[in-house]
Amino acid sequence: MSSDKLSEKYELSQAKTLLVVQPHPDDAEIGAGGTIAKLSDAGSSVFYVTVTDGSMGTLDKTLSPEELARKRMKEQEDAMRLLGVRENRWLGWKDSEVTPSQHLRNQIMRIIREVRPDVVITVDPWLPYEAHPDHRHVGMMASEAALLAKFPLIGSEHAKEGLNAFSVPAVAYMITANPNTFVDVTNTFERKLKAVQAHVSQFGDDWTTYRSLLTSHAEKNARKAGRTGGLFEAFKVLRPAQLHVNDDAENE
Ligand code: ZN
Repeated sequence: MSSDKLSEKYELSQAKTLLVVQPHPDDAEIGAGGTIAKLSDAGSSVFYVTVTDGSMGTLDKTLSPEELARKRMKEQEDAMRLLGVRENRWLGWKDSEVTPSQHLRNQIMRIIREVRPDVVITVDPWLPYEAHPDHRHVGMMASEAALLAKFPLIGSEHAKEGLNAFSVPAVAYMITANPNTFVDVTNTFERKLKAVQAHVSQFGDDWTTYRSLLTSHAEKNARKAGRTGGLFEAFKVLRPAQLHVNDDAENE
C-alpha cells in the first residue's frame, strides 16, 4: 500500500543530511563507509548513533569490558574523522544486550526529530540468518522510529524539548541481502578501508585478510549492479510508506 508520491524511489546520492544508526562501533564503516565518505565530500552532513558500547567484542580475556569500550570509543572517533562524519551519539547500551524496546525506539526517534535527516541508514533487520541480537533489534527499532516519527502523539514528550514530529523521507538498509541501490565507491574505497582499519581492536589481528574480504565484497556488489568493474556498496532503500502493510517490499 504505497500509492502516495512518497513511494517513489528515493535517490540515496541526493541526501543532504544522513543519520546512520549502528549497533556497534564499526558497522557503519563496514556497511556504508564508502558512501558516507562520498556524500560528506559532496557537502552532506552525516550524523551517527551508536547504540552499544562494543564492550564484548573481543576474544582477549585479559581486557575488561570498560577498557575495551574506551578503546572502541577512540577507534570510532578516528574512523569518523577519516569519513568526514560530524557527530556521534552513544546510546550506551551494553554490547550483546540490546532489547527490542519502546525505550530504544524512543531514544532513536528523539534523535531523528532533532537531526531531521533526509535518510536514516541502518542495518537490515530482515537479513536472513542474522544471529546477532543487537543487529536484529537495532535495525528493527530504527525502522520503527523512522516509520512513527511523523506522529506527534507518539513520543509526545519530545515536544517539550522543542522537537517536533518529522516525516522521514527514506530508510536505507546496509548489510542487506535484498539491495535495490548500488553506490559506486571506487574513489572513496581506500578511505573506507582506512576507517575500518581504524577499529584496531576488531581488525588489527589479520588486516590483510579483512582487507581482501571487504574488497571482494565490493567487487561482488559491482557484479550485482551489472557493472564490469569498480567497487560498490549495496543498500535496500525504502520510503517509510513502503514499510507498512506492503506485501511487495521485498521486490521494491
Ligand atoms: Zn555489529
